[in-house]
Amino acid sequence: MNTSDQLQDQAGLRVPVTSFAQLLGQKRAKKFVQNLLYRQKIAHAYLFTGMPGIGKTTLARIFSMALNCESPNGVDACGHCRSCRQMIRGNCPDFITVQPEGQIIKIDQIRKIQQSFNFAPLSGKYRVCLIQQANKMIEEASNAFLKILEEPPDGNILILCAREPLDLLPTIVSRCQRVPFQPLSTQKIKDWLIKNNGLDEEKALLLARISEGSLGRAIQNWESDFFSRRQVWLSKLKNVFEASPGIFLSMERKKTAIDKTDSKETISNMMEVWETWYRDLLLIRAKVPNHYIINSDFLSRLKKIAGNFTINNILKSLTILNQAQIELQGMRNTTLVLEHAIMNLNRLAG
Ligand SMILES: [Zn+2]
Repeated sequence: MNTSDQLQDQAGLRVPVTSFAQLLGQKRAKKFVQNLLYRQKIAHAYLFTGMPGIGKTTLARIFSMALNCESPNGVDACGHCRSCRQMIRGNCPDFITVQPEGQIIKIDQIRKIQQSFNFAPLSGKYRVCLIQQANKMIEEASNAFLKILEEPPDGNILILCAREPLDLLPTIVSRCQRVPFQPLSTQKIKDWLIKNNGLDEEKALLLARISEGSLGRAIQNWESDFFSRRQVWLSKLKNVFEASPGIFLSMERKKTAIDKTDSKETISNMMEVWETWYRDLLLIRAKVPNHYIINSDFLSRLKKIAGNFTINNILKSLTILNQAQIELQGMRNTTLVLEHAIMNLNRLAG
């Protein structure tokens, strides 16, 4: 269990969001939770679904804070009482977060929840247990979790987060009230980045488009020096385009896209950027207006090379990248997956 990083939720926000109004977007999910608080009809299990980085953890924390606040302001927590201060500091004993250790949520992590549920909430009225990436529960953990769901002691609330209900056992899903979250609009993310991170319009727009609706991803990208990494990745892709087929993998390998020290995550991020490049090429070939182009700072280069590709080859290239991304998620050797992908991309280039 982990309470140390509660201040930094999935969206990577450094300053804790403590009121409904501060949470970006998610009108329906907010309304749902506010109604629960108005009516004080709190169920014992909720399933928050949607992509990472769109506010599921944040809303769980706002909900939890409001539930235990000693002098709430309507449905919002006061932000000053003892319980609120504990939540803001990230050391509230009645707010437990569970997240995967490595790639999985182990049965021991679920047993710890079970043990803490044997006691009444320590300081407040409710204990909230938030399970992040609940789809990462291994089978044993899911089964142990089902037992908790079947007979949860009063005063305990479980909030599961997952991308899709389909990622979980149907018996778990059917015991939870489902609260869907939507991807955020490009505009909302862009405005947020300009206001809070001081980005200029062009960079904010590019990050917002690349993050595809996830504020968390936009912030992570920004903080990990995305723009210079993107330059490197795009020049690697240029090498893939320009290398002669065949000799490319042996002789020019070092100059090209393969760096064995790159992590799986880095390779995946690079492929995502490559995907945006191909998507842009496709849009240019289809004569779509310029403002739909993601890599708008490279518009003239994109226009220059788009003619080298047939639409069919661009679509095939996108399929290759998509397939490679799926293989990367599995246990495949990352270098092999990348090698295979760039060899095929090379064949389809110009
Ligand atoms: Zn309070």
